[in-house]
Amino acid sequence: MTNGAADGLRPKGYPLFDFDMLGLKPILNKTLAANGFTEPTPIQNQAIPLALEGHDILGLAQTGTGKTLAFGLPLVAHLLELHGKPDPKTAKALILAPTRELVNQIADSLSMFTRETPLKIATVVGGQSINRQIGILARGVDILVATPGRLMDLMDRGAIQLHTVRHLVLDEADQMLDLGFIHALRKIAPKLGSPRQTMLFSATMPKQMEELSRAYLTNPRKVQVAPPGKAADKVSQSLIYVEKPSKNAKLREILRRDPEALVLVFGRTKHGCEKLMKGLVDDGFNAASIHGNKSQGQRDRAIKAFRDGAIRILVATDVAARGIDIPGVNYVINYELPDTPDNYIHRIGRTARAGREGETIALVSAEEIDLLVQIEKLMKTTIPVAEGTRPQAVKMEKPNRRGGNGGGNRRPQGAGQGQKKSFGQAPAGANTGKPQQRQRRRRAA
Ligand code: ADP
Ligand code: MG
Repeated sequence: MTNGAADGLRPKGYPLFDFDMLGLKPILNKTLAANGFTEPTPIQNQAIPLALEGHDILGLAQTGTGKTLAFGLPLVAHLLELHGKPDPKTAKALILAPTRELVNQIADSLSMFTRETPLKIATVVGGQSINRQIGILARGVDILVATPGRLMDLMDRGAIQLHTVRHLVLDEADQMLDLGFIHALRKIAPKLGSPRQTMLFSATMPKQMEELSRAYLTNPRKVQVAPPGKAADKVSQSLIYVEKPSKNAKLREILRRDPEALVLVFGRTKHGCEKLMKGLVDDGFNAASIHGNKSQGQRDRAIKAFRDGAIRILVATDVAARGIDIPGVNYVINYELPDTPDNYIHRIGRTARAGREGETIALVSAEEIDLLVQIEKLMKTTIPVAEGTRPQAVKMEKPNRRGGNGGGNRRPQGAGQGQKKSFGQAPAGANTGKPQQRQRRRRAA
């Protein structure tokens, strides 16, 4: 696709502005045009004018709806109005995001502006040299994009002071809730400057998020493009009932249906994902994995290779894949259902990004029926069954909680123990995969 308007996502009848109707500095319009951004997406359409007026924003939108620009453009516009370089060891704006990948992705997106303006942007994430980050912060930055854990380390070391921060963005906030984020925010927020504009973006709205917004937002304007809990409209969902021992064969069968497609496969645990990936590679599939046991470099390389199409199958845990933007994903396969229903929505949001079509298939065994029921309840819909019939629910073995933390944060993610896998033969099933044209797009620079 091109970066033209995300037509499929535009709500009917909603007034649309053009980016050049916003009264932005010419350099911003020039940068938007040069990067192919001509029309705003719906969340941008709603959020940008309000954020430019300085309101706090509570933004609810699924992944792939263009949230980065929705907060990034007003942020950059505000910062360009301020004069003077940032003081040493300070920042003017702080963006918090749950994972290293997401932090890097936000900084990459916003660097199209910082390259063309005097603004300085920096990232601080775990898994990288802290001394290098201390060095960068020593000179002061305009926009600091950070995971909460590493930011707190740097605050403790006196490498950064936040009293000059007048813009705070909490991106993918729901994904941070389970990463000890509330605790971090309680420490970080009192150190920030005021008055301050705060923008909170989230794909889902669990109860805790409402508390968060009450605590940190002042008279926020709520912008929303699809009700929370509703799956991206353009994702066609299906599920296959399959016994646990037959999942490996079924997965291979699906992968062979569309040998060109980019496929993101989700598993529950780090070990499970690694084993699954190795098995696929042994069977001749072009696969890589990302999870908390991989180094940052390995994860970055795998994501880049997947994005470039050099790797076709990426096996990931929920935490490692959070928020990452891989525009060309054709299929999301839930090899195992996630522990929490919200994560199902996050997973399927990895396909059908920015209005393209995508397909998601879940492999569901008797042990996962309870999880399936929760997911369908949250989404208020029944996922169409492509193969098999619903088995009697079987209680899952008690998950052995171990750290499945891929985000460089401190609190371990609740993750079930990797299941014993055998390579049983799948029952012959109907071919339900819709072969899809592989769509690649020019990456926004
Ligand atoms: P989210 O944060 O909601 O998951 P992103 O900000 O990562 O979404 O954007 C998803 C994709 O849509 C990115 O590839 C981005 O370049 C593209 N995109 C964002 N805004 C627009 C726009 N106005 N027109 C076209 N494409 C856009
Ligand atoms: Mg995002």
